[in-house]
Amino acid sequence: MTRAGWRHRWRDRWRRGLPLGRLFGFPVALNPSWLPLGALLAVGYGHLVGRSRPGLATPAAYAIGLGLVVLPFWVSILIRTYAWIVILGNAGLVNRTLQSLGLIGAPLPILYSELGVTIAEGMAVTALAMSNRRVTGVRTSQGAIAAPIVVNAAGPAAARVGRLAGLDLPVHPRRRHIFFTEPFPEIPGPVPLTSDVTSGFYFRKDMEQVLLSPGDVEDIGEDFDVPMDWGKVEELVRKAIHRLPIIADARIAGGWAGLRPLTPDDHAIIGWAPGVEGFFLAVGFGGHGFQHSPATGRYVAEWLVDGTPSLDLSLFDPGRFGAGRCGAATGRTRTR
Ligand SMILES: Cc1cc2nc3c(=O)[nH]c(=O)nc-3n(C[C@H](O)[C@H](O)[C@H](O)COP(=O)(O)OP(=O)(O)OC[C@H]3O[C@@H](n4cnc5c(N)ncnc54)[C@H](O)[C@@H]3O)c2cc1C
Repeated sequence: MTRAGWRHRWRDRWRRGLPLGRLFGFPVALNPSWLPLGALLAVGYGHLVGRSRPGLATPAAYAIGLGLVVLPFWVSILIRTYAWIVILGNAGLVNRTLQSLGLIGAPLPILYSELGVTIAEGMAVTALAMSNRRVTGVRTSQGAIAAPIVVNAAGPAAARVGRLAGLDLPVHPRRRHIFFTEPFPEIPGPVPLTSDVTSGFYFRKDMEQVLLSPGDVEDIGEDFDVPMDWGKVEELVRKAIHRLPIIADARIAGGWAGLRPLTPDDHAIIGWAPGVEGFFLAVGFGGHGFQHSPATGRYVAEWLVDGTPSLDLSLFDPGRFGAGRCGAATGRTRTR
């Protein structure tokens, strides 16, 4: 860790306090900046209560003195525990509000539910654990995870992950470039995504800049480290000037390249993998995966949780490319 990192860490520790442990399940921390004030108050107050001990002062004064210490402590614990019930319980504020607005019919099981997601980053799935053509989990670069259902949503790597289950998925990673100009007010925005269907060139205004793509489709193999080919700028400029002559005055400021997961009919593959129980496919989103992602998330979740999606997804049937094989290469794989 760098010196700045340590400084930041200690400043953060100082602000949030030094963790002492847990009391009744709650984390207890000691904030050093409050220590002198706390000590002063505690000693002063203890002295006062001590002096009012029975025999020295009235029993009532003694009881009040002790109560002022003990009561806030217990109230704090009760409030912390019950506040969540009051807010998130079945008859809690959130559920009542949603019901009164007509947004839900029955209370949502927010509290005491087993819903939750753990997102593990930097962990590659290297193998599928299988038993009698049924998926039982995954092996990853950081250990094994047991799972009754495994979803292949590996984008351009979908075919590679499919092969772990012995499937031949027709998802072909193809490179595409995007470039952007320096600020270019000569084309006033906003301009929606505009495409030249004959050459594949498309552009749109993005803030002050113009985003442009030659619409290239290139097979660079299954190496997912995608290099930029700056030679593509020439192809881009030629196609762009043909449709948008004014762009000749703009300067290219940068660009990037990525892989689009294409399928033979340009539609995604969504559904249970044929012949491999417990293996679900949500792959092959081509050049429209961002746009499809909210709907895909919703209907895949319905499918997995409720057993069926509320929208007919048969268009994306994994079996559509060939009998018995999930997307055996048909020989008419698109390259655009
Ligand atoms: C230049 C370019 C421009 C595009 N423009 C648009 C656009 O304007 N609009 C649009 O809708 N779409 C666009 N797309 C397409 C869009 O990027 C894809 O369709 C979309 O990202 C696919 O989403 P996905 O979730 O299926 O895959 P990804 O977003 O690729 O996610 C797959 C994930 O799986 C992970 N993964 C892969 N293998 C493994 C493994 N073995 N173990 C664990 N994790 C793994 C990857 O790390 C990645 O995080 C563009 C693509 C490119 C390249």
